[in-house]
Amino acid sequence: MSTKLLLTLAIFQVILTVGLSLDPTELLRLGFDGQLSFEPSDVETASKDFGGLQRTESVAVLHPSSAEDIVRLVKAAYESTHGFSVSARGHGHSINGQATATNGVVIQMSGSRKPASAIVSEKLMYVDVWGGELWVDVLRSTIEYGLAPKSWTDYLYLSVGGTISNAGISGQAFNHGPQISNVYELDVITGKGELLTCSEEENSDLYHAVLGGLGQFGIITRARIALERAPQRVRWIRVLYSNFSGFTEDQEYLISLHGQEDTQKFDYVEGFVIVDEGLINNWRSSFFSSNNPLKVSSFNAEGGVLYCLEIAKNYQESNALSIDQEVEDLLKKLNFIPGSIFATDLPYVDFLDRVHKAELKLRSKGLWDVPHPWLNLFVPKSRIADFDQGVFKGILGKKTSGPILIYPMNKNKWDNKSSTVTPEEDIFYLVAFLRSALDNGNETQTLEYLRNQNRQILRFCDDEKINVKQYLPHYNKGQEWIHHFGNKWSQFLKRKMEFDPRGILATGQRIFKSSF
Ligand code: FAD
Repeated sequence: MSTKLLLTLAIFQVILTVGLSLDPTELLRLGFDGQLSFEPSDVETASKDFGGLQRTESVAVLHPSSAEDIVRLVKAAYESTHGFSVSARGHGHSINGQATATNGVVIQMSGSRKPASAIVSEKLMYVDVWGGELWVDVLRSTIEYGLAPKSWTDYLYLSVGGTISNAGISGQAFNHGPQISNVYELDVITGKGELLTCSEEENSDLYHAVLGGLGQFGIITRARIALERAPQRVRWIRVLYSNFSGFTEDQEYLISLHGQEDTQKFDYVEGFVIVDEGLINNWRSSFFSSNNPLKVSSFNAEGGVLYCLEIAKNYQESNALSIDQEVEDLLKKLNFIPGSIFATDLPYVDFLDRVHKAELKLRSKGLWDVPHPWLNLFVPKSRIADFDQGVFKGILGKKTSGPILIYPMNKNKWDNKSSTVTPEEDIFYLVAFLRSALDNGNETQTLEYLRNQNRQILRFCDDEKINVKQYLPHYNKGQEWIHHFGNKWSQFLKRKMEFDPRGILATGQRIFKSSF
């Protein structure tokens, strides 16, 4: 008997003696073309995520070689007498164990197949990709044809299936909508093990359910993503504000230009809040020179808080002569602090991949694999000033442990038929607290302190009746989920009963009580 088989059998015995309901031999009989792994290191990787806040162990990890492997597994879970959970895992960049499967099987979607699975249609301007493909690989494939997806996330080492299960947002969302507004068609394996193609025209209920569906209705194995002609270069600009209303008025003005000609608007609008000196030169802003760090105290900031508008203008090299004038004309209409313009110019691909540079820096200092108690909120425009007063100038107390992003989006770029939940206003803001907890003796940077601050922020919104919605939501109680979905809950539940009636899929989201 080979050492590998002996090891596998020994692991089975350990699993069986702890009395799990899922019998690994049941899985082995399924005969996958890919690899079904019981290796402790594989199981360990699949039990954790970027958040580093919890650990949930599965029985096995499937590295599928095709959609058929996934059909086989999900059908077995659906048809077996006791059932077991199955969760797709993209790149595991969730915060709260959303891609784990207690006592079940994790399907490792990213990295399991050769990345060259993208098929580009130049004529119809789309790309077909495997659900586990990382966005950085989607970009590499399409850029060869001079094409690129229209809507992005700030960071590209996330899987297509993972971001589409949430929304996928960045500074292009005001213009093109989130990534889920830029998907033409999907192949999905439902919780009954059926492989279905869905789109606006075909199996449309499944299509809308899966977009922003938190993995609850099916496993995305293929996505058809809209493309545009890729710009060659980007003028990337930051300007500062000491006054919150001036900052948000300009952000809202800029996103109101979404219907204008390309030359009349920026292509990317984001921003961030600077509550302490450390933050202005933080990991997301390699932009400001580290030899000449910017000082918050050198600006007369209202309440000690500064706001940075981040905008970008894409262009082709053939238009390089007119870009200065276009940018100058657009900047003229804004009310930032005079003299606070920081600009750089870089290739489009480098702009899209900007956060990866920061990741490499943090990794080299051992600061990437630390706990990340992140909190992402959609805040309605009508209450963003109250949020500023109560949170940025209040609860944070000039202390935070990571960048705070803030940017508005147009609700009419989101399809209300999708599963994603956003506030009931025409404009809402993303506010993202991207914290890293450190064990360095500084009490305000500990995990406990930051988690407590997150709770305080949520409590403040509740008390002040600011109807925020969590993005990348995480709740522990059923009632909280029902409140989160609001008037979308009954539809969500109906779709769950139709597409995953045994509650097999993505149990790590903890929306439905699992019986296994
Ligand atoms: P995972 O964590 O692996 O999975 C997330 C959920 O999706 C799980 O429930 C899982 O079961 C499900 N899932 C995964 N793959 C599939 C599939 N093929 N079919 C069905 N369900 C599936 N988000 C933004 O919108 N914009 C950003 O700019 C942004 N930046 C980020 C930067 C960093 C450094 C990190 C860590 C996260 C960021 N995110 C951002 C959040 C990110 O989009 C989500 O956490 C996303 O889910 C991560 O993708 P993943 O492939 O790692 O998913």
